[in-house]
Amino acid sequence: MQSGNIGVTTENIFPVIKKFLYSDHEIFLRELVSNAVDATQKLKTLASFGEFKGELGKLDVRVTIDKEAGTLTISDRGIGMTADDVDKYINQIALSGAEEFLEKYKDTANSIIGHFGLGFYSAFMVAKKVQIRTLSWKEGSEAVQWTCDGSPAYTMEPCDKTDRGTDIILYIDEDDKQFLEQSRVDALLKKYCRFLPVPVISGKEQEWKDGKYVDTDRDNVINAMEPAWMKKPADLTDDDYMRFYHELYPGQDDPLFWIHLNVDYPFTLTGILYFPKIKNNIDPGRNRIQLYSNQVYVTDQVEGVVPEFMMLLQGIIDSPDIPLNVSRSYLQADTAVKKISSYITKKVASRLEDIFKTNRSDFESKWDDIKIFIEYGMLTDQKFADAAMKFVLVKDTEGKYYTLDEYKTLIEPTQTNKDGDIIYLYTTDTTAQYQYIKGAIDRGYSVLVMDGQLDQHFIGLLEQTLEKSHFVRVDSDIIDNLIAKEDKKAVLLTPTQRNILTTIFRSQTPKVEKAEFLVSFEALKPTDSPIVITQNEYMRRMKSMAEMQPGMSFYGELPDSYNLIVNTEQPLVEKVRDAATTALADKITPLETEVEAANKAITEIRDNAKDGKLDDDEKKRSNDLEARVNELRAEQEKLITEYASTQPLVKQLIDLALLGNGLLRGEALSQFIARSVSLL
Ligand code: ADP
Repeated sequence: MQSGNIGVTTENIFPVIKKFLYSDHEIFLRELVSNAVDATQKLKTLASFGEFKGELGKLDVRVTIDKEAGTLTISDRGIGMTADDVDKYINQIALSGAEEFLEKYKDTANSIIGHFGLGFYSAFMVAKKVQIRTLSWKEGSEAVQWTCDGSPAYTMEPCDKTDRGTDIILYIDEDDKQFLEQSRVDALLKKYCRFLPVPVISGKEQEWKDGKYVDTDRDNVINAMEPAWMKKPADLTDDDYMRFYHELYPGQDDPLFWIHLNVDYPFTLTGILYFPKIKNNIDPGRNRIQLYSNQVYVTDQVEGVVPEFMMLLQGIIDSPDIPLNVSRSYLQADTAVKKISSYITKKVASRLEDIFKTNRSDFESKWDDIKIFIEYGMLTDQKFADAAMKFVLVKDTEGKYYTLDEYKTLIEPTQTNKDGDIIYLYTTDTTAQYQYIKGAIDRGYSVLVMDGQLDQHFIGLLEQTLEKSHFVRVDSDIIDNLIAKEDKKAVLLTPTQRNILTTIFRSQTPKVEKAEFLVSFEALKPTDSPIVITQNEYMRRMKSMAEMQPGMSFYGELPDSYNLIVNTEQPLVEKVRDAATTALADKITPLETEVEAANKAITEIRDNAKDGKLDDDEKKRSNDLEARVNELRAEQEKLITEYASTQPLVKQLIDLALLGNGLLRGEALSQFIARSVSLL
C-alpha cells in the first residue's frame, strides 16, 4: 500500500475548496460526470483507432445512491486508470502557485475549478471521504483503490475491481445529505448532463401504482434527448427545430425564427438561437439562453457572451472556448469572448437578412413580433444597426411594410418640404389620432405607425442616421406646417380683430386638467376644420423622455401644452369674427387707443430719464400709467368674455376640436351634448 501527501503547494486547499466554493456546491456532479463521460469517449476513440481491441460492452455512466452507506457513486466503463495514472493525474495536481492564486481569486472561487484541473477535487465540497476504484483498459492492469479523507493525506492500494472503468465513491457530508435524495440528484443531472453524448443513468424509471410512484426495473436515462445543435443544419427539418425548442422550453408558443450557429475557426462554437414570441409578461429570469461547454451545461448567465440585446433570445450556445469558469468581469474583458459576441451579432444579422430576402412575406408577417429585438439591437449595438438598416421595416397606417430605402423612395417626391428635408409623418395611436392621419392621407401623404415600446428611441436613431430627414407626429401641428411647401398665406385680421378673437376663444376654452391651451391663427383652406388642436412635437418628446429619465423631471411636471389653431379662412370662424367685430369694435377701439397712448407715455418717460434712472416723480407717473393699462385690459377682457359667453357657436367650435382629440370629458362633454341639441 502506498500513502503520501497530495502534491499541492498548500496544506489548506481542502478548506479553501469547501469554504469558497460553497455557493456552487452542486457543480461537483457536473465535474465528475463529465470526467466519466470523457473517459468513456477516450475509450471509444482508442477502439476506433484499433488500439483497444477488447469488448466495449455497454458504455453507460451510472449515478447510484446508497442511502444506508451514505454514498453517491459515479461509475463509468471508460479507460480507467493505472496506479501510475492516479499518481500522475490525481495525486500530483500540479498547482504551481496555487496558494497565491487562491488568495487572489478567493471571491471568484468558481474560477479555480476547471481552470486548474481541479474538477475531480470539487468532490470534497460535499464529501468527507472520497474513494476511487479503478481498472485501466490496458492489458494486465491491476485495479487500484485510492482513498482520501479531505486532508492532503491519501492511501492507495490494489483492490478487487474486475470490470474496466472507474467508480468515484463519495461519502457525503452531514451538511450535504440532499445529494443522497434521488429527486435532487436527478434534477441536477437534468440540468447539467441533459445533452451529454454517453447515456447517463440515475435510478429507475417510475410508474404510478397503487396510489404512489414506484420504481420499475427500467433504467432512468437522463439524457434521452438528442442535442440538435450538434447536427448539421441540412440534417434537420423545421419540425426538428420546433421539437427541440419545445423540449427545452416546455409550454411556450412556437418560436418565430431560429439561427443555427456553427463555427470552427478562429474559435469553436455551435448552437441554436431562437426568437421567441414575446408576450407582455416577459420574465427575463426564465427560459434564457443556456451555455454549454462540449455538451455540458454550464450556466444560463450569458451576460457578456451574448450581446446584450440578444438576452431575450432563447436556445443554446456551446463553446469550449468561452472561459466559463472565470469571473464575469474577466469574461467581459476577454478578447475571445468579444469575438464570439461580435460573431453572434453578425450571424444573427445575416440570417435575418437572409430570411428577409428569401421569404419576405414570412418576414413581414412576423415583423411586429421581432421588431422589438431588432430595434433594441440597433439602439444598443452600432454594428448590428449598420447591418440591420438593410432589412429593418416600417409599417404605414394601411399595414404595408417598407424597408427604409423603399419608404424614402415612396415619400421623397411628396413629403419633401421647402427646405429640402424629407418629413416622415408618424402616429402613435391610429384611433386617437385618426383625424390627423386622415388629413395627411387626404393630402396624399403617408403616415407610419410607431406605437412600439422602443419606437420613440428608434425614431431618434433614424433621425441621426438618415440624412435631411425629420420625424413628426402627425398631430403635432397642422399638416401644412408639418410639411411646409411654400410660404404660408398671411392671416388677414386687424389688430383689433385679433385681440377680440384671441380673448373670445381663450375665454371659452374649458379647464382641462394638466392641459394648457395657446390660441393662434392660421389662414388654412376654407374646407379645413375651423379649429385644430395640436401638441408641440418637441415638448411632447421632452415630456415622454422625462417619464423615463429621472434628471428631467422639470419637463415632466409641466402641463401638456396644446395649440388651439383657429382657421381664419373657415366660414364659421369668419361668421364669429364678423359678428364679434360688429358687436365689440366700437367699445374696444377707444380702450385700445388709450392703452396705446399710455404705453407710449411710459416709453417716453423711460427714454427721457437721465442715465436710464427714473426719479421719484417719474417712477410714480410710470406706475400709475401701468396700473391704468392693466385696468383697461381687464375691462376689454371683461367686455369680450361677457360677449363670448353669449355665443354658443364659439363654444361649439372649440368643443368639436377638443372632442376630436379625446380631450372633451365629464361635465364639459355633457354640456356639449346639451348645447348641440339646443342648437339643432
Ligand atoms: P480535468 O478533468 O480538468 O483534467 P480533473 O481533476 O477533473 O481535471 O481530472 C484530472 C484527471 O484525472 C483527468 O484529466 C483524467 O486523466 C483523470 N480522471 C478523472 N476522472 C477520471 C475517470 N472517471 N476515468 C479516467 N480518468 C479520470
